[in-house]
This record gives sequence, C-alpha cells and structure tokens, in this order.
Amino acid sequence: MSNEDQSYEGRVIEVLGPVVFVSPTKVGTGQEEPYACSLVGRRFRAGKPVAGDLVRFTIHSETVQGRDYQGVITEILPRSSLVQRLDPHSLRARSLVANLDTLVVVASVGAPALKTGLIDRYLVCAHHWKLEPLICFSKWELAEELDLIYMRIYEALGYCCIPCSAHRGDGLDKLRKTIQGRSSAFLGHSGVGKSSLLNRFFPEVNLAVGELSIQSQRGRHTTSSARLLNFDEGGFVIDTPGVREFGIADIKSAELANYFPEFTDFSADCKFQPCTHRHEPRCAVLEALQRDDLARFRYDSYLKIYDELAGYEASRY
Ligand code: GDP
Ligand code: ZN
Repeated sequence: MSNEDQSYEGRVIEVLGPVVFVSPTKVGTGQEEPYACSLVGRRFRAGKPVAGDLVRFTIHSETVQGRDYQGVITEILPRSSLVQRLDPHSLRARSLVANLDTLVVVASVGAPALKTGLIDRYLVCAHHWKLEPLICFSKWELAEELDLIYMRIYEALGYCCIPCSAHRGDGLDKLRKTIQGRSSAFLGHSGVGKSSLLNRFFPEVNLAVGELSIQSQRGRHTTSSARLLNFDEGGFVIDTPGVREFGIADIKSAELANYFPEFTDFSADCKFQPCTHRHEPRCAVLEALQRDDLARFRYDSYLKIYDELAGYEASRY
C-alpha cells in the first residue's frame, strides 16, 4: 500500500451511502478504478462531498462497520458551482452535484410533446446556477413544423439548440462534440429520452430505458445517487436522477426577470424600478409584448413561475 500520509487529488464519481467513490485526477496512484473512500471522523465546511467534487484523499485500506474502504477523503476543494435542490418537505437546500459548467436541458418532441413551459423553468435554473444552458430537442425524427418554430425562437434568444434522435442517430455527433470537454448534467422530465441519449454516448453503462415500471424501480434504488460518466476525450456528464425532475429552488420572484434574457433588453425602460412586469403602468416589457417584440409563451412562463415563487415566499414569511 502507498504511503498513508501522501494525499492525492480525485473527482467524486458517485456517493452511495457512506461510501464515496473517487477517481484520481492525476496519475500516480497506480489504480485506474475509483477508490471507495470513507469520511470517517471528517466534517467539512462544504458539507458532504457530492458527485463532481474535487477532493484530496489518502490511500489506505480499512474496514469500518463491515465495509471495506481503500481511502479517506481529507479535503473538499473549492467548488466552481453547486447545484442544490430545495427539499419540498423541510424547505432546506440539498446539494446534488458540484463543479458543472453546462446544463443540458432535454426536451422531447412528439411523445411527450414539446413543453416550452418546462424548457423555460430549466433555463431559469441554469441561469440561477450560472451554468451555460444548452437545449437538446430529443426524438427529433418526430418533429413537426411547430417544433421547428419553437427551436428557432430559442435560437434567436441566443440559446444553443441541438435537435437529435437517440433512435435514428441524428444530431448525436454534434451533441457529443458540444459537451465533451465540459462538465455537464442532463435535466429534463421523465420519458424525454435522457437515458437513451446517455446510452448512446456510454454504451457500457447501460442505463435503464423506457418502461415506467423499470423507471420507478430505478428511482427507488438510486434516488440519491448521481453518477459521473467520463468522456474519453475529457469532461464528464453527471447522470443525476435527483436533478432530473424537481421544482424550482431558492430563486426570488424579484430576480426572476433577470433570467429571461430578452426581458432585460427592455426592463431598464420600465417606469417603476424595480418592476415585476405584471401590472405596472408604463412597463416596457408589457409594451414590448403588445408590439409582439417578445414571445407570448415566454412571458406566460414568466408569469407562471413568478406566481409559484411568490407563493413560496408568502408561505415562508
Ligand atoms: P428518460 O426518462 O428521459 O431517461 O427517457 P428514456 O431514455 O428512458 O426514454 C423514454 C422513452 O422514449 C423510451 O420508450 C425510449 O425508447 C423513447 N425514446 C428515446 N429516444 C427516442 C428517440 O430518439 N425517438 C423516439 N421516437 N423515441 C425515443
Ligand atoms: Zn416592467
């Protein structure tokens, strides 16, 4: 065994109960597979490590409560980003994944049909977490005229849009080239094709696809487990059941408009500052909407999310 005092840098691949799997980020440990590490006796200011975390760990074998470990985590390195979700019961934030730079919003066309309201919610999350959003329109072989129109609107708003089909193969090269080398997670409702896409990139992982019964089983077994999948070319995707579907987290209603980039073209001209762009007189956003300079469906998403956030705020105070 290596010298116990020597510490290594690694990335957390998965956290399964008390076991944290860490993959060395630099050569020199002599082992390719992730190390099963413990946190024995350690408390970190950043809380427990999550998938994507960069950590320092020492290598040594020990058995704790019947489990065999190969190392101990000694430090969580500063995080460049942290995705958290609000627990709907306790209203406390739970950390899910760290160090992402990109959020892949997956929306399907056809079945289930495109839901722009969901895309807009996820885009809001991406902006809130300061991650670069990318919209993947999956099952594109089922696309109709209207889907294309929506995609063009998101493109015009400046979002990178990638139509693709896990079944037919369209767009997969582009999606892969766009996300390899980056640190991303897929976000989208159940059934939109996330596992099918990830299976095309990581066939050896073989994520469960499809049938609802299989999905609920998987949900039960892995609710809290996010797993990091490394690209050979560098970068990773975190497959995160916990992140895949959730309500909007700790965003303040007053800051929501900042997450609709096209509103900010107008909002400086609103008479009232701050303005919620809902009923205020001489609101430049409402005026732009009247002139059709803003897409109505985006504004509708804003109102819906605004009401939800305002509802949370009212229930909290
Ligand atoms: P997830 O819940 O987002 O992970 O979605 P899954 O990958 O489990 O896929 C849900 C369903 O959509 C399955 O029945 C898949 O076979 C189907 N599906 C996935 N990709 C495509 C596609 O490109 N085209 C079509 N038509 N169906 C797809
Ligand atoms: Zn306004």
